Amino acid sequence: MAAGGPQVNMFRRQKTGSVLCPSCGQLVGVNDEECLNCGRKRPGLWGFTGPLRALARGDAFVPFVMWLCGAVYLAMLASDWSGVSFEGLGILSPSGRNWLRFGASGGFPVFVLERWWTPLSAGWLHGGLVHIGFNLLSIYNLGPVVSHLYGPSRTVIIYVLGSVTGFLVSTLAAFVFAGYPWPLAGGGLTLGASAAVFGLIGAVLHYGRRGGSSLIRDQAVQWIISGLLFGFMLRGIDNWAHIGGLGGGYLASKWLDPLKPERGDHVVLAVVLLALSLGAVVLSLVVPLPPLRYE
Ligand SMILES: [Zn+2]
Repeated sequence: MAAGGPQVNMFRRQKTGSVLCPSCGQLVGVNDEECLNCGRKRPGLWGFTGPLRALARGDAFVPFVMWLCGAVYLAMLASDWSGVSFEGLGILSPSGRNWLRFGASGGFPVFVLERWWTPLSAGWLHGGLVHIGFNLLSIYNLGPVVSHLYGPSRTVIIYVLGSVTGFLVSTLAAFVFAGYPWPLAGGGLTLGASAAVFGLIGAVLHYGRRGGSSLIRDQAVQWIISGLLFGFMLRGIDNWAHIGGLGGGYLASKWLDPLKPERGDHVVLAVVLLALSLGAVVLSLVVPLPPLRYE
């Protein structure tokens, strides 16, 4: 807990007094129509500027993502236990039906089942114990680095945008390279946090270039080479999602500019993106699947 400063109740709207403008950081009245310094409309965010900042304080990113991915994975296993596979690398792999039901993405769900929102949901799901273990370990190692460079809210933005870009690229590749063999073929049915992990790496790469740190840039290049090598050696890994995630994270970092400080607006965007991507998992569970041939 930081000393000093006003104590903010996370769940209470602030109705009087002043807050920092989410866009420029100057003091404004919580009920002001417009920031006198930068012209931003409604800088008080209807009383939620303070609570949102409190939410973003500290380093909740890594535990938040790890607990959430773990909980979704357990739900995928438990809700269709008889379909769980135990073979080889697929040990403790949720049933194929649950992959689809929870919001796996790729050519099949998007183009055949018309579940167009799944590029948002797929990053929260995992296909087996090795899969989730490897991805969470990567997040555990990379998350604090990115959080340190960008702040927690921009880390969330990079993470979600990297993930979505990865699954969009993989799904498009499934359309463009239909009929081609792996690794050219895109993701027919794909899921996992690794597109987001590559998004974090892409952001670190951009940071190294933008900030002029060859040490950071070289570290990112090393992660990229080993990550892609690993992906092309193990059959079935969705390299399109990795490459897409890498590009998405790089562009997100370019857009956010790591040399500028994190702003209140980033907290708002992070919350919106999280709500959209988690909402996509809920939507996947709510929209019934058509009868599938293998059932
Ligand atoms: Zn302002």
